[in-house]
Amino acid sequence: MTALHDMTVAALANQLRAKKISATEVAQHLLARSQADTSGAFLSFNPEATLAQAKEADAQLATGTAGPLAGVPMAHKDIFVTTDFPTTAGSKMLEGYRSPFDATVVRKLGVQAGGAGMVNVGKLNCDEFAMGSSNENSAYKPVTNPWDTSRVPGGSSGGSSAAVAARLVPAATGTDTGGSIRQPASFCSITGIKPTYGRASRYGMIAYASSLDQAGPMARTAEDCALMLSAMCGPDLDRDSTSLDVPAENFARDLNASLDGLRIGIPNEFFGEGLAPGVRTAVDAALKEYEKLGAKLVPISLPRTELSIPVYYIIAPAEASSNLSRFDGVKFGHRTKDYTDLVSMYKRSRAEGFGEEVKRRIMTGAYVLSHGYYDAYYLQAQKIRRMISDDFQQAFKVCDVIAGPVAPTVAWKLGEKTDDPVANYLADIFTLPASLAGLPGMSVPAGFGEEGMPVGLQLIGNYFKEAQLLNAAHRLQQATDFHLRQPGGAK
Ligand code: GLN
Repeated sequence: MTALHDMTVAALANQLRAKKISATEVAQHLLARSQADTSGAFLSFNPEATLAQAKEADAQLATGTAGPLAGVPMAHKDIFVTTDFPTTAGSKMLEGYRSPFDATVVRKLGVQAGGAGMVNVGKLNCDEFAMGSSNENSAYKPVTNPWDTSRVPGGSSGGSSAAVAARLVPAATGTDTGGSIRQPASFCSITGIKPTYGRASRYGMIAYASSLDQAGPMARTAEDCALMLSAMCGPDLDRDSTSLDVPAENFARDLNASLDGLRIGIPNEFFGEGLAPGVRTAVDAALKEYEKLGAKLVPISLPRTELSIPVYYIIAPAEASSNLSRFDGVKFGHRTKDYTDLVSMYKRSRAEGFGEEVKRRIMTGAYVLSHGYYDAYYLQAQKIRRMISDDFQQAFKVCDVIAGPVAPTVAWKLGEKTDDPVANYLADIFTLPASLAGLPGMSVPAGFGEEGMPVGLQLIGNYFKEAQLLNAAHRLQQATDFHLRQPGGAK
């Protein structure tokens, strides 16, 4: 039999339902494997809680009350609040924080009544407050890429991508504000999807930029992402004011639909100067596969692609500066031991609790929102954001899905960009447009580029077209084996 850690979510769910294996046995195996990991992917464990969840899943499986993914292990990005585990958002500000409630996504995936029945193995490392693209902004430790431990796993969901790629867990949650599911998935050769903004509840997901933040699954296959996403989505109107009143869907139902006649838009702005040749070759080869599967490639233009960088790096910090004001040492977060009066307490608490990148963004955000600059920066950015969304709608008149690279390069070396925040920001160029427009986007393993490092193909769909994206990704995975390869060369 396939080793438990080599099994997909779908395979584990089947075996568990058929009672060939028990949730407790799977949890013990993956917990031991995860605890022995040295990549830095995990920030915390609570073996007692994990095994209690597994026991609960076993009981549900025995009595026929189990959810669709009962007993399948997974791990949550440490930005989703959990009662059973600490939640830090990768920040010293929240060191030791224990939430009194579970995030909606945690509840929907978990073993509580009505949940999908998954067992949480632990909490995964990430960039502080999800700000970053290499996981090096974690206040605790960096994460190494299992394909080459001298390189970053991507970010901000870098613990999630590294853990899934190294087969510590078959799946994980991630969050994507400007690419944080798609880019780490691409860097580690796994599959990840960010749904349409508003489809998954943001309740209990520590806020970075509320008009952009979305949760999504990261797993090895499109089928596994479909299974998890089906459980994660759905209205949560009382708890998240931007949650959409759109019913949950079974995204795994139509995965084998034919791609005959599917029009794939190829934005020429995604293939310009700055795209690494190895990434381009891999993406081109994946597009050829799609042609073989019956799809048609249609040239399109997303003329404001480059502008998405300044627009995002105005809007996201603006929202962050407001969201992070709650961490003042009184309402939430670390409180300094060393203060003389109220103002010095606020100042020192925030100075000690936040890392450098977070401070940079709070300052940028406060600046662009300040009197006199609001019109010049924030308002302008909002207008261009709307134009970026309109460009996509123009494109979707002539195509069904948009495809291109996830990132301009493969994973870079640890430390390579730490002193150059702008270099990090520029690398987000291909993921930001879909985020600003609130469109669903995913990353699918598409081969290997420079230095043999993984390359992801990005697929972007129109609003609520997650099923179409997952179907397209699944069909590619039926035709290629990139998603089956694993670090170290074994298949
Ligand atoms: N790299 C981008 C940023 O630093 C995106 C992060 C994210 O999607 N959370 O803001």
